[in-house]
Amino acid sequence: MNKLNLNKSWNYADANESIDHILLKKQYDLFINGEFVKSHSKKYFNSINPATDEVIASISEANGQDIDFAVKSARKAFNSWSILDPKERGKYIFRIARMIQERAKEFAVIESMDGGKPIRESRDIDIPLAINHFFYYAGWADKLEFAFPNKYPKPLGVAGQIIPWNFPLLMAAWKIAPAIACGNTVVLKPAETTSLTALKLAEIIKESGLPKGVVNIVTGPGKTGSEIVNHPDIDKIAFTGSTKVGKLIQKNINGSNKRSTLELGGKGANIIFEDAAIDQAVEGIVNAIFFNQGHVCCAGSRLFVQENIAFEVIEKLKYRMSSLIVGNPLDKNTDIGAINSKEQLATINNYIKIGKQEGGDIYQQECTISKKGNWCPPTLFINVSQSNTIVQQEIFGPVLAIQTFCTIDEVIEKANNTPFGLSAGIWTEKGSKIFKLAKELNAGVVWANTYNKFDPTSPFGGFKESGFGREGGLHGLKSYLKFE
Ligand code: NAP
Ligand code: MG
Repeated sequence: MNKLNLNKSWNYADANESIDHILLKKQYDLFINGEFVKSHSKKYFNSINPATDEVIASISEANGQDIDFAVKSARKAFNSWSILDPKERGKYIFRIARMIQERAKEFAVIESMDGGKPIRESRDIDIPLAINHFFYYAGWADKLEFAFPNKYPKPLGVAGQIIPWNFPLLMAAWKIAPAIACGNTVVLKPAETTSLTALKLAEIIKESGLPKGVVNIVTGPGKTGSEIVNHPDIDKIAFTGSTKVGKLIQKNINGSNKRSTLELGGKGANIIFEDAAIDQAVEGIVNAIFFNQGHVCCAGSRLFVQENIAFEVIEKLKYRMSSLIVGNPLDKNTDIGAINSKEQLATINNYIKIGKQEGGDIYQQECTISKKGNWCPPTLFINVSQSNTIVQQEIFGPVLAIQTFCTIDEVIEKANNTPFGLSAGIWTEKGSKIFKLAKELNAGVVWANTYNKFDPTSPFGGFKESGFGREGGLHGLKSYLKFE
């Protein structure tokens, strides 16, 4: 293969997104009953820019008393929100969608500053998708009887919603939009490291005139989350996060009347057959594992390549990796931004160490990395096997484990040999292979000749230790309704 040395001979000029239009307060309080209120804890924690280590804002830590106030406000609001003309509910949600849309650029920049993701991704994926979820579910608000004919759908009540740090605004939209479209009210906790876009959303919700208490946003650490989980007047827990915390939540609500959906971790298999369009597949591998620094529950973190094309695919992949730009998330050229937190970087580095100790061969892209901030170059491992830790466990970073296979049955067995069951990708020109694998892979989402494609109309969720319940589409409504 003739190779251009892309990294050294092609230097892009900086193309930094402006931050002049960003309106951030130094300090954020809790959003309860339609107002920003101080926490009873009187405590604040810092939100850090993971690319610069700078403090962006200080954020209020909600305690049990605050959660009780938020749940009481949500309960009171439920009495009128749940019986409001559904067309009116829809109008509020449309308004929220339009208001985020008007301020999309501001949201994208804050998402990248607070979480470290490349501006191209927050601008073109996170924020537009979050807006689309509000639009999509606004449309359903007055059509629930058509979505579930003869079933007389009714809202559940107050939903406690807890979300992770990898897609902050998008996860908030996945949770809030279907819940309130169905007539529920919510208490939502964003992740500690990425609360800012949820708090900006709270500002929009206030401005939108949404009745007080329909949406409450409470910030804080895991303990704040457990106060929500354990509050006796919550009807449903919707959790997205790690399998470890998901199991804990399941245990805590066991025996109560609370309904739950758990969207947990993953270890997606991305499968490349010899008849695939190789160059497209290589792009697909890059997108599957390096999108959002690999902080993606459905990331294609296990690559299976058919043996006779493995050499070619791996060479092309390494070459493609050499052109990925790692650096300032606010630079529009950047492909791979900052790792979300120091803790997550330490976790990833530990997995890389274990990968080497267990005999895997590592390849990392050469790149100059700033001393400030948290960075991990795109990384791949070859010569690993099913029993290796980095093949079994979710790393949640830009680290790919590559294995080969000979036959379809072999790859199905290997792909299914994991505690998780969230996602998979198949690259082949044969429709018959796609149908066979889509049926036999234990994965909630299976992409064919593409990867990491999301749409509000499409359900998303897992099997096995990836959790249960679906978000998106009609399925996403169903988990916020009860039927007569
Ligand atoms: P995490 O540690 O489980 O945290 C998720 C959320 O739960 C955060 O808001 C966290 O607060 C809170 N929390 C922590 N301990 C809690 C407790 N004991 N009770 C109640 N809430 C608690 O997960 P993460 O590291 O933020 O996110 C990464 C994980 O999310 C990965 O495993 C990923 O696969 C999964 N994920 C799944 C999906 C999906 O749809 N299946 C989508 C995205 C991410 P703090 O932030 O303060 O710790
Ligand atoms: Mg942050």
